[in-house]
Amino acid sequence: MAFTRATGKHRAPSRLTRTRAKAVGVAALATTGVIGGLAAPALAADSGTPSVSDTGLGQVIAIDKTLADRIDAQADAQQHQADAAAKAKAEAQRKAEAEKKAEAKAKAKAKADAKRAAEARAEKARAARSAERTRLSAFQLPVAGSYVTTGYKSSGSLWSSGSHSGIDFHAASGSSVVAVGAGTVVEAGWGGAYGNNIVLRMTDGTYTQYGHLSSIGVSVGQSVGVGQQIGLSGSTGNSTGPHLHFEARTTPSYGSDMDPVAYLRAHGVNV
Ligand SMILES: [Zn+2]
Repeated sequence: MAFTRATGKHRAPSRLTRTRAKAVGVAALATTGVIGGLAAPALAADSGTPSVSDTGLGQVIAIDKTLADRIDAQADAQQHQADAAAKAKAEAQRKAEAEKKAEAKAKAKAKADAKRAAEARAEKARAARSAERTRLSAFQLPVAGSYVTTGYKSSGSLWSSGSHSGIDFHAASGSSVVAVGAGTVVEAGWGGAYGNNIVLRMTDGTYTQYGHLSSIGVSVGQSVGVGQQIGLSGSTGNSTGPHLHFEARTTPSYGSDMDPVAYLRAHGVNV
């Protein structure tokens, strides 16, 4: 078919040049030596040697044209394949990079999550310790809802020292008397002028004393919690009527008293 083509129509050395360039590129594809052989005259046509028509190689050129087209197509196909391969490779690379990025991101997120969880646990532990400290240090009135009827250091003939070593809380006989804070019972029994009395060593090392009780509900060595009932109010010992005598002390003994109102207020009690 291509052999019937008018040779005159085939001119354009530039086309030949282009073809040759591709033909050289696909020379490895040639299964016969024909391609190589035909390429040579084309090369000659480029370099000022007698033109194609002068050489009488018209038919050869026609063959060359057909082959060139075929080679072109082959080269194009090969180019397309190469392009597709390069594209696929780039795509794969892009995917791999994206996966790597996603993996790193997930890793960082997991790390951040773990850190947050650890911080939350630490914060919870801190809050628990703080709540425990608050619970241990929380103080209450020795008689719920009561008030002071006789102040600290009040003078009067009632007290052997001539001065009140504690404060008196209003309390009808048999009222519940509770530990103002957590501590340990160091004295529980008859206390002379104090009547039935209890002395507690508080967790902070101070002491509290509860006097004139009608009954004692704890024994020496016993641990008590804040608000725990330790006895009932009364009027035993040197007392003119039911009430609770309360002291704050630096030691378990009489004479080491400190201002009970200031003491209770320092421990957060509204008195
Ligand atoms: Zn008193």
